[in-house]
Amino acid sequence: MIEAGRPENGKPVFRFAPSPNGLLHLGHAFSALLNLALARAAGGRMLLRIEDIDTQRCTPAHEKRMLEDLEWIGFEWDAPPRRQSEHFDDYRAALDDLLAEGLVYPATLSRGEARRRIARAEAETGADWPRDPDGAPLYPGEERLLSSDERDAILSSGCDHALRLDMSAARASLGSDPHWREEGAGPDGQAGDIAARPVDWGDVVLGRKDIPASYHLACVIDDALQGVTHVVRGRDLFHATSVHRVLQELFSLAEPVYFHHDLIVDEYGAKLSKSRGDTALRELRAAGARPDDIRRMIGLSTD
Ligand code: GLU
Repeated sequence: MIEAGRPENGKPVFRFAPSPNGLLHLGHAFSALLNLALARAAGGRMLLRIEDIDTQRCTPAHEKRMLEDLEWIGFEWDAPPRRQSEHFDDYRAALDDLLAEGLVYPATLSRGEARRRIARAEAETGADWPRDPDGAPLYPGEERLLSSDERDAILSSGCDHALRLDMSAARASLGSDPHWREEGAGPDGQAGDIAARPVDWGDVVLGRKDIPASYHLACVIDDALQGVTHVVRGRDLFHATSVHRVLQELFSLAEPVYFHHDLIVDEYGAKLSKSRGDTALRELRAAGARPDDIRRMIGLSTD
């Protein structure tokens, strides 16, 4: 059972949740400062969450630079940051609840095996294998059909496995797909009352092979534990909200309002990436930019 944090005096709670796996760029600055402006306008609290479950790619050095860059652009947070790598027990407990309900199963196919199965199926049927909204093929394994004894045998065997949500079983247990309130817009302008489409994602990973959590799981658990009422993030995560709403319903968690904002793109219209130096806040600062220049570059007012 997840103990949801209670918003203090009914105040709205916003969060900015970057991953310290590279340098923050203009897109992060926009998301952070937009969150802060909305939080302040609503008289709400602004929280910072460090999404570092991938402890290989997220390093203390990246985190240090990230915090320095956030302070430099004038981002403020109202409580000590929550660092996900310190809370694996919370995610593990949530996974155990779903395992006990038979809603997650151990999935053993390696990436190569999955690719080979998909290629075989595509060759046999002549049809494209279904892909999720991020373009990744849906998981082709059939371990969801195993009995609970067979699942337990895999779990106790010590063989490499991820934990995947049995999406059909999850949807059946909910009875109907959840909705959410979108105050920003999706990639096709979707706004207002949005019906989640979890079926598009198939059996998502909730516990990675190497890490007892995944982005979807940790994000939903933490939004609840931190009492987040407003999730303001980039439009690239609009479709992920379908998975997040299913998890919130399975765990009986409160439903935040969502605001998916525009993405800052490069001169070719492509999303910025952490591997591109010229839009990194640190590089811009080294080249003489000031925080107000950053605000102007991302279309925020400077007064
Ligand atoms: N950690 C995610 C990222 O850096 C953001 C997750 C979220 O806002 O839900 O893209």
